[in-house]
Amino acid sequence: MTLPYPRSDERRRMVDLQIAARGISDPRVLAALRDVPRHIFVPSPYDRDAYADTPLPIGNGQTISQPYIVALMTELIRPTSMDIVLEIGAGSGYQAAILSTLVRKVITIERIEKVAAHAHANLVAVRADNVEIILGDGTLGYPPSAPYNGIIITAATPEIPDPLKAQLAEGGRLVAPVGGRSLQDLVVIERHGDRFTEEHHGGVRFVPLIGKYGWE
Ligand code: SAM
Repeated sequence: MTLPYPRSDERRRMVDLQIAARGISDPRVLAALRDVPRHIFVPSPYDRDAYADTPLPIGNGQTISQPYIVALMTELIRPTSMDIVLEIGAGSGYQAAILSTLVRKVITIERIEKVAAHAHANLVAVRADNVEIILGDGTLGYPPSAPYNGIIITAATPEIPDPLKAQLAEGGRLVAPVGGRSLQDLVVIERHGDRFTEEHHGGVRFVPLIGKYGWE
């Protein structure tokens, strides 16, 4: 990624007031949020508000998540520079671009072709060249690159899809909004052999995960 991008003052303010102030403390995650130009991932005219504390429309009825939630989900998987991470729901590509600065390789799956094409263009624009976009049903995961040290599901799911649990590495962490179609709980599971520990991190609202192991 070529640095720095314009609007760095807005990004610094966003990180100080919306992200660090609300308890995100991993310095690598804060640096990623300061570096990656969110305005590149938000279509006009909403790009004006790219550094506001809110999700924004990206077309096709989909959204780019609120910056704080992106930071929280990123911190919760505890990314390291050797990791391979799977994201379900590429959307704008922003979450994948944040991850790309923190881990070795990112695979991101998107089910809507047009959305995937935009995500690809955005990721090329910021030179996030360790991200691979796969078109398809992310509830099935992506076995060719498994196991994953971290998995982030960025759409609301009634439960964590079994194929994704199976593709999590030993000690790997998966974060997902789990619950109903309109309100979910942010859940983290961590794999220890065949056992999974579970943490709960509060209420969130995401668009639905549509697929074989998600919503119809
Ligand atoms: N992570 C995105 C970003 O950084 O902009 C935001 C994701 S948006 C909240 C949710 C995305 O999940 C949408 O683009 C939607 O099309 C996608 N989606 C829903 N169900 C899916 C599935 N089964 N597989 C892959 N993508 C899915």
